[in-house]
Amino acid sequence: MQNKRKDNTNARLFAMKLAAAVLSAAVILLITVVFVKTAVKKDKKEIKSKPPEQLPEVSQAESIPDRSIDEDMLKNNFTYYAVGPEQLHKGLLSDESFDESGGGLLPIFNALFDKDGSQIASLEDNTLKCHSEMINPLNQMLTAFYSSTKLRTILISKAYQPKTVQQSEAYDHYDIYGNYLGYYADPITEDSEPCAEHDNGFSIDFCVYDGNDKIRQLTAEDKYSWFEKNCYKYGFILRYPEGKEQFTQKEYCPAHFRYVGKAAANIMHEKGLCLEEFAELIKNYSYDKPLTVNTEEKMYMVYYIAAPESGDTLVQIPTYRDGEMLPFEISGNSADGFIITVSLDDSFTLKDNAYTELDSSSLS
Ligand SMILES: [Zn+2]
Repeated sequence: MQNKRKDNTNARLFAMKLAAAVLSAAVILLITVVFVKTAVKKDKKEIKSKPPEQLPEVSQAESIPDRSIDEDMLKNNFTYYAVGPEQLHKGLLSDESFDESGGGLLPIFNALFDKDGSQIASLEDNTLKCHSEMINPLNQMLTAFYSSTKLRTILISKAYQPKTVQQSEAYDHYDIYGNYLGYYADPITEDSEPCAEHDNGFSIDFCVYDGNDKIRQLTAEDKYSWFEKNCYKYGFILRYPEGKEQFTQKEYCPAHFRYVGKAAANIMHEKGLCLEEFAELIKNYSYDKPLTVNTEEKMYMVYYIAAPESGDTLVQIPTYRDGEMLPFEISGNSADGFIITVSLDDSFTLKDNAYTELDSSSLS
């Protein structure tokens, strides 16, 4: 009896072991299949997220002079400029929400004509406005697109848009203690919108008017890939590029461009970075060791300084020999510090031969 029970127990144990083995084999198989599938998917996705074509070197590249910075001049000619903590969320490279009360918005209509007075692009809504700083660069970009393609089909569909409120959903608000706070609408959070940052005045969406009353979003196809390839020359970036979703937290959007200024746009173009990556990269550069970038017109230096826990940040700005500061722009990074861009004049730059000399001397 005992033996039989033992046999039974053994048999049951064996059956259970067998079942467990089969089960774990099945699980392993399943995991393998899923893993392989994911790997394949990942591969596919990686291939897909590569840019559709390598951006060819721009024709003007050769004409950009090879300048470098005169480090001695930097060390000996500077002053300190104080920036308040309230500036952390302000500036060209921040997540600033534009303050309309301060003025500074201009109708985009002003940017739609070439120097002969012909209209080269149009607006979906004639009241569209953007930051005044962006009007000229936008005009230059539209003019260049027109002279390169002879297309007048660009239509600007979205520009500055204040943070919107859902009027229809206004309701009585109470705090957690039941005190009446007022009757108002909750603002729509930007994260929930596919096309963000339109409240900073530096963002713009392009559409294409294809004739037959058909309007479509701009895509990087045919002649319209011009914008993605050339926008940096005018200080614009494609804000949500393909393959950068993990940094921007937004899907690829070929129609949405943002003005960031020529220095930042050139650096991002040169290094293949999106705005978030640029903001991280620039933390490696200081006043003494700035990141420099050459554009057709001039050389810029860009550097970062961390903000102290409280109070003002003292920023080094290079000065001319008479003590006047060089043209500069300071922008908060919306987190922990400031990004400074200085437009350098000839006295701070070394050219060609001088460049090689500096290189060898700094090595020794
Ligand atoms: Zn947009």
